[in-house]
Amino acid sequence: MNDNQLYFDLLGLTTPWIVKNVRWDMDEGHIDVFVGHSRGAKMSCPECGDFLSLHDHTKERSWRHLDTCQLQTIVHASIPRVNCATHGVLQVQVPWAEPHARFTILFERFAIDVLQRCNQTKAAEILGLSFDGAHHIMERAVTRGLLRRETNVAAHIGVDEKAYKKGHSYFTVVSDLDKGIVLDLQDDRKQSSLDAYFNSQTKEEKSSIEAVCMDMWEPFSLSVRSNLPDPESKIVLDRFHIAKHMVDSVNDVRKQEHRLLLGEGNRTLTGSKYLWLFNEENIPDDKKANFDLIRNLVNKTARAWMIKEMLRNLWTYKSKAWAKKYFERWYSWAIRSRLDPVKKVAKMIKNHLNGILNFFDHRLTSAGAEGINSRIQAIKVAARGFRTKEGFKIAIWFHLGGLELYPRTS
Ligand SMILES: [Zn+2]
Repeated sequence: MNDNQLYFDLLGLTTPWIVKNVRWDMDEGHIDVFVGHSRGAKMSCPECGDFLSLHDHTKERSWRHLDTCQLQTIVHASIPRVNCATHGVLQVQVPWAEPHARFTILFERFAIDVLQRCNQTKAAEILGLSFDGAHHIMERAVTRGLLRRETNVAAHIGVDEKAYKKGHSYFTVVSDLDKGIVLDLQDDRKQSSLDAYFNSQTKEEKSSIEAVCMDMWEPFSLSVRSNLPDPESKIVLDRFHIAKHMVDSVNDVRKQEHRLLLGEGNRTLTGSKYLWLFNEENIPDDKKANFDLIRNLVNKTARAWMIKEMLRNLWTYKSKAWAKKYFERWYSWAIRSRLDPVKKVAKMIKNHLNGILNFFDHRLTSAGAEGINSRIQAIKVAARGFRTKEGFKIAIWFHLGGLELYPRTS
C-alpha cells in the first residue's frame, strides 16, 4: 500500500476525494497530507444536496489531524465550491472536518476524550495544543451540544449560586437533580438571573417543573413565585443549606463563649473550632473522648450544638404532619435557649417553614446539586483560575452539561 492509499483510508475518504500527495517533513517533525478530488467530480450543495459541477476552489486551508507515525499530521486542501441555482456559490461539506474547524473530526473527537479525562493544561500538553487551542475545541463542543439539546427543563430542579471570584461576581446554576447535570448558567444571583432561565421556556415546560430546591435566598424564591404556577407547593428549601446556617450559628456561639472564657483565663475552647462542625455520627473516633469532655465543660456552645443536631431529626419523619409537630417543639426549645445566633436562625427557619415542610411532599434534596457544586469547584481549581468568566462557564458546560459533544462522523 502506498502512502496516498494509506492516508486515504486513515482519513476515511471516499470517491471522488483522493489523496494527491503525502510529504514527510522529518526536520520539522510533521506529515503533510494533500487532499483533492478526481477530475470532473460533482459535489452536493450543502443546503439542498443538489449534485452539481464544481464552480471553483477556495485557497488552500489546513486541518490538524491525529498524529500518524508519532508525527503531527496536517491535512491540506482547497475546498471546492458549487454554484447552486437556489443557494448561490457555496463551499461543499468536506468529509474530514466540520465547517470552520481548524481540526479534523477524528482529532476533535480524540481531543474531547482527552479533555474529559484531565484538566485543560494537561490535555493541551498531551494534544500538542496551546491552552487556548484546547479551549477552542471545548467551546465548539459546547456550542454543538447546546444546539443539539432538546430541553432545559426537568421535573426536579435545583437552583444555586456560585462565585467566579471569591466573594463577588456570582452566577446562577440551575441543575437537573435527577440526572445531576447543569441545565442553565446565568450571570449574577438576582431575581432576573433565574427569570432569564424561565423566560426560555414555554408555558407547558414551566408547568412540568414539579419542584425547585434552593436556599433561603429571596431573589430566587421571588422568581419562582412570579414564573411558576402554584409556587408555594413547589419551593423546597434544601436541608443542606439549612444545616449550614445552623452550623454557622454554633460557630458564632462558640466564638462568643470562647471570648468570655478566655477573659476568665479558661482555655477549654481553644483549638476546638473544627470539632463543633461535625455531625454527631461523623466525629472521628480519635476525637470522640476529647469532644465529650469539652461538651461537659462548656455550657452554651454544647447547647447550640445539640439544638443543631436535634433539628436534623426533622427530616427523618415520614409524615409532614408529624414533622410539623416536631418542628414546633424544636422551635420552642431553640427560641428559649438564650443563645442569640441560634434564636436568629430559628426565626429565619420558622419564616420559611412551608418551604422546609414541602420536602415531605417531594422528598428531594440538593445532594445532586451539591455534587455539581463540588465538581464546579474542582474544575475551577484544576484550571487554576480562569482568565474570564466565560471560559469558566464553557468548562462547566463541557464537563457537567450532559451534552452530546462529539462532531458527527460521516
Ligand atoms: Zn442548493
